[in-house]
Amino acid sequence: RSICPNKPNELVPDGCASYSTIEELNEKLYPLVNDITQETDYFGYYRLDLFGRTCPFWSDDEGMCGNIACAVTTIDEKDIPPIWRAGELGKLAGPKASHPATRQPDEPSPLAGALGEETEESCVVEEDECDERDYCLPEDESAGGKGDYVSLTENPERFTGYAGAGAANVWKAIYRENCFSKPRGESSLASAGGVMGAGGNGFQGFAPPGSQAAMGFVNVMQHKGKLDLNNLEVDDECLEKRVFHRVISGMHASISMHLCWDYLNQSTGEWSPNLSCFISRFENYPERLQNIYFNYALLARAIGKLRNYLPTYTFCSGDYYQNRITKSKVVKLANTAASTAPQIFDESLMFRDEMVGLKEEFRNRFRNVSRLMDCVGCDKCRLWGKVQTQGYGTALKILFEFDESKNADGNPVLRRTEMVALFNTFGRVSHSLRALEGFSRMLNEKDEAD
Ligand code: FAD
Repeated sequence: RSICPNKPNELVPDGCASYSTIEELNEKLYPLVNDITQETDYFGYYRLDLFGRTCPFWSDDEGMCGNIACAVTTIDEKDIPPIWRAGELGKLAGPKASHPATRQPDEPSPLAGALGEETEESCVVEEDECDERDYCLPEDESAGGKGDYVSLTENPERFTGYAGAGAANVWKAIYRENCFSKPRGESSLASAGGVMGAGGNGFQGFAPPGSQAAMGFVNVMQHKGKLDLNNLEVDDECLEKRVFHRVISGMHASISMHLCWDYLNQSTGEWSPNLSCFISRFENYPERLQNIYFNYALLARAIGKLRNYLPTYTFCSGDYYQNRITKSKVVKLANTAASTAPQIFDESLMFRDEMVGLKEEFRNRFRNVSRLMDCVGCDKCRLWGKVQTQGYGTALKILFEFDESKNADGNPVLRRTEMVALFNTFGRVSHSLRALEGFSRMLNEKDEAD
């Protein structure tokens, strides 16, 4: 049994071709992004306010997850490269703050290795204010230095047992943010808890999971090599709204994929893929798989768009050689993505008609989704939920606010947390496609055995 023939073909007459295009790209990108996220210090640590914020929308102590698998181990600040410590970050003045360990030109660097010419570049960007172009709330800065450091490699996203009404309510509230039909300033969450207003655009309806509007992975071969978003115009919903839904649904599907792939067998105590979990969450919902591919295309395009930005960005770990190695890996990934990704996702089709305020609403609603992560009652799920909403928020910022012909000086600033979140989110989606291959093989073996 193959996954492909099960995918709906209403809008995708030759859908498997576009899936295979992305699968081929992933063959090249997966080893690169895996190396970046698993093997570099820069991308392995994330700073966030994991425990300090309460859910701004409701109180739900019963929705807390008490399983050991939900727990996150935080890192003592002394084990973090000095350059990222809160004390050092507190000294920084703004987006163009210089390296914390500022020294005289002739003075040797107090940090491991010589920082060389990169020393005077903007090293760690910490802003107190939310940039109006952000699609997500800054994680670390707004915590006023109270954030925790977490090793992403030591706290992998996997099955935690978090489920039931608590988890369902969070997903429900997240999908409700897709209702772009309220009058301006009246977000569904704004009425529930005083959230920043999001304007309406007059479009009616909400694409429930599985509806036609949520489907439609467009065949790249048929549309001049582009993932032609306009061809998803199947009913009265605007393109941007459907993109919003697909980003959320694709993130949800990727989380489901990982919890099924890295599942705890409670009788043996072993972690392994759980085929029944995969079947129950995906077999009758091909659009969920489509949305993972959609997010892959979106993230790969955003990373490719950074190819001129990254060479002048400083990856500070306190070690010159590590910085150089990290940068070369990231630049290689961006160049490889850039050579293919523009053909599979074309963001220029979005936000170009007469609907004033739509982009702002899109941004505000995405920020609300990031606020909802504080309502997730499982620490590990909250950690990865925050990383991934920040990652998609960063990708949207790059897609809609960046000029790809310019370097880091001519574009909005990306904070370290945004960079780390973006690449780890891409790593998650890339791994989801790998897990999908694994489940496809297991399904075939099962069919042959039956
Ligand atoms: P859920 O996944 O809770 O889905 C709720 C409803 O949403 C479904 O009934 C369906 O109608 C709809 N739906 C499901 N998938 C999609 C989709 N892709 N697109 C559109 N609609 C959909 N659990 C873990 O074990 N590990 C984790 O790391 C983890 N992280 C989480 C992060 C967040 C932000 C949240 C909110 C939950 C997380 N969970 C995690 C819980 C997990 O996502 C599920 O909620 C839980 O496994 C229960 O699953 P369910 O089958 O009841 O449906």
